[in-house]
Amino acid sequence: MKCGNPIAYPAATPPEQPVIFSDFDGTITQADVIDQILNQLASPAWRKIEAEWVAGRIGSRECLSRQLALVNTTTRELRDWIDSIELDPHFRDFYRAVRRRRIPFYVVSDGLDFVIRRVMRRMGARQPLRNGLDFFSSELSIRPEGLEIRFPHAAAQCKHGCATCKPQIMQKLRGESRLVVYIGDGLSDRFAAGVADVVLAKGRLLEYCRKQGIACTPFKTFRDVEEALLPSSANGRPAAHKASARRMAALTTA
Ligand SMILES: [Mg+2]
Ligand SMILES: [Zn+2]
Repeated sequence: MKCGNPIAYPAATPPEQPVIFSDFDGTITQADVIDQILNQLASPAWRKIEAEWVAGRIGSRECLSRQLALVNTTTRELRDWIDSIELDPHFRDFYRAVRRRRIPFYVVSDGLDFVIRRVMRRMGARQPLRNGLDFFSSELSIRPEGLEIRFPHAAAQCKHGCATCKPQIMQKLRGESRLVVYIGDGLSDRFAAGVADVVLAKGRLLEYCRKQGIACTPFKTFRDVEEALLPSSANGRPAAHKASARRMAALTTA
């Protein structure tokens, strides 16, 4: 099936609530947060390390660790900086709708827990936000000698060298017969897309899905995501894909 076709759900999926997984950087935020941190807060040597990674001499985990060690900042400065990050303008509404319907929603990200927590709080998250339970990402410590990053969800069995192995987390959390949705924007989302039943894609993930013939629904903002997944809550606007959206709505109506 080609991209852009209506969402096709697996025939055998029983009518249970779906589980929605979303990438963070470039999906919920407008740009890649670590790139921005490096650009604005790191000494320029980070570019040399980037070149080593591009040339394939080091892996992405080593690359990130060494680059973030070049960032000299304080907790307060970082917090203020995070509050200036541009987000998808419709994410807050989508997140609200998902919580209202009690649909399990997880951020899965190679990015930084410190950033995700702060952004999700701003979006109205009131529950505890534990990395490894409520969301999944790399772990940041702010030290006077530089930022330190750890990868608690880099699975030993992962063949892709993921900082956070999204497909493994998704397989673990999907349970028996749930409908797994993945929302993402980048090439590092391709393995996650491979284990999802429904993919919403933009950017390089969309290009990748199109090239590989992976079924997906293109989106620009979370308004499109909301219309595709939760049409009855999307301000009365017509659903992007009526038949499949109706089916999703039946699945997701609390
Ligand atoms: Mg991304
Ligand atoms: Zn992996």
